[in-house]
Amino acid sequence: MTLKRLTKHHLKLKLLKASRIIFLVAMKKVNFFTSLLILWSLSCTDAQTINVDTSQAPDLANFGSRVASELKQWYPKIRDILSSPNYSPPTTINIKFDKDYNGVAYASENQIVGSVNYYRKNQADAGSMVHEMVHVIQHYKKCPSWLTEGIADWIRYFVYEPDRKPKKPTPDQHYTNGYGVAAYFLQFIIDSPPKLQPNMIYWVNKDCREGTYADSIWKRLTGKTVDQHWNDMMNTKESGCYKNYCWSWCKSRGSGNWCYTTRGKKWDRGWVKCSSPDECNEYWECANECHPKDYT
Ligand SMILES: [Zn+2]
Repeated sequence: MTLKRLTKHHLKLKLLKASRIIFLVAMKKVNFFTSLLILWSLSCTDAQTINVDTSQAPDLANFGSRVASELKQWYPKIRDILSSPNYSPPTTINIKFDKDYNGVAYASENQIVGSVNYYRKNQADAGSMVHEMVHVIQHYKKCPSWLTEGIADWIRYFVYEPDRKPKKPTPDQHYTNGYGVAAYFLQFIIDSPPKLQPNMIYWVNKDCREGTYADSIWKRLTGKTVDQHWNDMMNTKESGCYKNYCWSWCKSRGSGNWCYTTRGKKWDRGWVKCSSPDECNEYWECANECHPKDYT
């Protein structure tokens, strides 16, 4: 829904640009051939080049090309979610695997640097590269770091790999921790009634990119401050007692999926009997697979 709307918005922008060119042609301000060239370049903004440098670790060549095709495939979707007027993200992204870098990965301008040591051991982790590509697209002028990292992880976990959504933050965590905590929190705000927020990410992203971000945006967009949302989230119990067994939402209540829970390990079928919601804990793992909302 959100994605569709934003794609529409992106299209609208293109149409607006195209109509401006037709207007200029009509006014004889640019010649016909120049306008054709500009229209062609507009239709080509989907082109995306991802260069990968594995010269320091030739054994990562296969992984590198897998990451490149993954990023190429996801780039247009993420660019559309994070679109804003008069902004085009870089059309070339350079990925380099560095043997002397000991973190996971980082982004700077249109370059992503990944650690050789890390990716040798974690070749399933394309998600961290998607997170870095979000930073390349974000190009923020002014944004709190929790939000920059929160949006990057929100794209990663709620758009790119929804099966790996983070769990509800614990009381010792705070949205200013950023990353998965902030990603979960952003989804909570998006899902909050009266659901005025389907385009929340669009407006927050726009302000961060244009350097106009201020904390007042939350109240303006959603009617509540960011701290009020945080308190709401922490005070909303994500579990209960249904047909005498404890249940909880599957990672995010917005997904509508739920499961019966266990005190033990995920999917161990250790269902817990209950007679009231107080006996159940929202941080317990799912005892079995998740059910859709209307499952009874
Ligand atoms: Zn980051």
